Amino acid sequence: MTHKKPGLNTICTHVGELKDEQFKGAVSPLYMSTSYAYEDVEVKRYPRYFNTPNQQALAQKMAALEHGEAALIFGSGMAAVSTSLFAFLQKGDHVVLQKTLYGGTSNLVVEEFEKFGIEYSFAKDLSAEAFEHEILENTKVIYIETPSNPLLTVTDIEAVAKLAKKRGLVSMIDNTFASPVNQNPIDFGIDVVIHSATKYMGGHSDILAGAVISSEEKIDRIFQLAKNFGGSLSDYTVWLLERSLKTMGLRVKAQNENAQKLAEYLEKNELVKKVYYPGLASHEGHELAKKQMHGFGGMMSFELKDLDSQAFMKYLKLIKPSMSLAGVESTILSPAKTSHALLTPEDRAAQGISDKLMRFSVGIEEAEDLIADIEQALEETKKDMLDVRI
Ligand code: PLP
Repeated sequence: MTHKKPGLNTICTHVGELKDEQFKGAVSPLYMSTSYAYEDVEVKRYPRYFNTPNQQALAQKMAALEHGEAALIFGSGMAAVSTSLFAFLQKGDHVVLQKTLYGGTSNLVVEEFEKFGIEYSFAKDLSAEAFEHEILENTKVIYIETPSNPLLTVTDIEAVAKLAKKRGLVSMIDNTFASPVNQNPIDFGIDVVIHSATKYMGGHSDILAGAVISSEEKIDRIFQLAKNFGGSLSDYTVWLLERSLKTMGLRVKAQNENAQKLAEYLEKNELVKKVYYPGLASHEGHELAKKQMHGFGGMMSFELKDLDSQAFMKYLKLIKPSMSLAGVESTILSPAKTSHALLTPEDRAAQGISDKLMRFSVGIEEAEDLIADIEQALEETKKDMLDVRI
């Protein structure tokens, strides 16, 4: 009998684990050595070469999770983003990017690329036609992010991958918000998948890391630059990340479920102006999300009608106003003051990111407790407004 490939939670728990031959312990041993023998060995190992035992083992799990051939683990999501882009772009080249990107990625492009003689354009909207419209003779890469940070816009992965193939370009995606639990872009023809592993992969708000998954050939090209840029991850954190990934399937599915309940609750609440969540039928990208995602994720954004969002966030007791996202604990923030603070107000407005917008990262708490927290914070904020009027 042939057995089919291992399923998600089996990959999370077992693929790439190292065997403890000495003591037969149940989990991967941690090799912290930065110095390995160089005589009579097949591989010359060094942490900045991305090839210590723990780095290689975790890369195998990442590759399996994203249905790729190989992977590299980085010291941050931005190390993964920048190294991947620079690996396929050099002086005189051009890249087409999605307009609604994580603020740090936009900053990288706008602040650094010109210095290296790399040209760029942002597609006017999310359609494949808009991406095609920006392609020039020297274009080498198309870069997308879906669902995007913070408005959860959904881009047609298959259409972009097909366009890239047709025009001989490398397609890249930031798959952070979906996580490999909810979306596997390589299945739709994307070449390079990037993650801020700081988010759902780490999942406990205590790890900064990044990952890139692709074919052997493209990972080797990224590696050639990565070893010079030096953005690898310490083995201790690699080991912690392997541990975190064991529960990723369980965590993210719980977060999907909670987020759907919370989005439906918020959408029905008369104090709420708009909710952005791909799992809602009212969301522009809902049909596309149904086609290309296995679950709608734990991230959403929303705006209140008249109430002050800053006051509302201060009144929350369970949901923490906090930077970053995707931990098991629910957090909330103002993108205009954090992830997208470095964009000009005009650029934020052009992307639809108002000062009132709140980005909500739904955790694994009981949905009823999260709803109760929102209710009490709304009540307190309402009282404040009445006090001001009196
Ligand atoms: N991509 C997305 C979608 C993000 O949200 C972030 C960080 O918030 C990054 C990339 C950058 O990741 P890191 O902070 O791990 O460098």
